[in-house]
Amino acid sequence: MCPDGIHYLNQMKEISDENFTPKVELGVTLIGSTPFEDEKVKRNVDQCIFWLTEYFKDPHKIVNTMKPDICDASENGTFQERVWLCLAKNIGPGQTVSYGQLAKMVKSSGASQAVGTAMATNPIQILVPCHRVIRSDGTLGQYSRGKRNNVKLWLLEHEGLKVINNKVMS
Ligand SMILES: [Zn+2]
Repeated sequence: MCPDGIHYLNQMKEISDENFTPKVELGVTLIGSTPFEDEKVKRNVDQCIFWLTEYFKDPHKIVNTMKPDICDASENGTFQERVWLCLAKNIGPGQTVSYGQLAKMVKSSGASQAVGTAMATNPIQILVPCHRVIRSDGTLGQYSRGKRNNVKLWLLEHEGLKVINNKVMS
């Protein structure tokens, strides 16, 4: 987090397919007690917590909730940053996009593999909705390099999508 926005938003390291048991009623809290001196940073952290809380309550209402700022200074316009920002801007709750489509959206047709890599290294989970990027045949594909595929499934179902046999029904 810097005055220009978020740098990282990650799920707890311990979460894996083996132990993932979502408890929405727990709500969203800030772990640790990082003192935020800067007013802009403080406001953005509050906005982020508010946005995530709303997201877990009702992902469809967050379309009208102001997103916290994402800092775009750290990567200086690299390919993966363009992919992250394009995804965050264009693919909303309940929508999905394939790796190939997303490659096209950043004007790099055929770069679906590179898009996959960008998704695997996404530093701002949920806000940059890499869980909405699926394979072109509708199957889910991996999440967190395959360690948290159930989290991806949960997030998509939370957003109202119907998933049968690991495939998003359209
Ligand atoms: Zn920054």
